[in-house]
Amino acid sequence: MCGAELKKEGDICKNCYDRYIKEEALKLDNEQEVFRINRKYSPKFNLLKNGEIVVLEIIIILAALSAYRLPIAILIILLCVIAFGAWMFFNKVRAKGTKTIFYETKLKYQAKYLFVNREEIVPYNEIKDMAYFQSRSQKMCKIGDIRFYTKGFLSGLTISDIPEIEESFNKMRDIINSTR
Ligand SMILES: [Zn+2]
Repeated sequence: MCGAELKKEGDICKNCYDRYIKEEALKLDNEQEVFRINRKYSPKFNLLKNGEIVVLEIIIILAALSAYRLPIAILIILLCVIAFGAWMFFNKVRAKGTKTIFYETKLKYQAKYLFVNREEIVPYNEIKDMAYFQSRSQKMCKIGDIRFYTKGFLSGLTISDIPEIEESFNKMRDIINSTR
């Protein structure tokens, strides 16, 4: 896997084998759950974040009302409403299927919705630093993104739209620090 030259067919490189064993051990659910948090679904935030889309839909609706005959205008309005509803529904499903679970010595990030199925495990002892970020619209809804920096250039994990960002951040930091 790492590109090391093997002596014969079927040999396994020691480095890759060790890493494989370590990764498999991490996947075991043999630890007590300490804390879990879901991605927050906030209609207010989604409206703020994608304000342009909302404005665009309103413009389309107004244009449809003035330019077309009523049945066509109603049809266009209906399509806008359906698109908007579908988009809000997607955000809700995504939030419900995205969670981070904190165990005694590792955290597990899980994103499972529609066609997405992603899981990442980060042991606390690999976390070098953490920070949270807030966009303007996130600030207005008290949510934020948390980044866990791990060893290696550009490596780490970001979890998005975490509710009560300050309290959540402090809680996670304390859990991670308690294992050091
Ligand atoms: Zn290797």
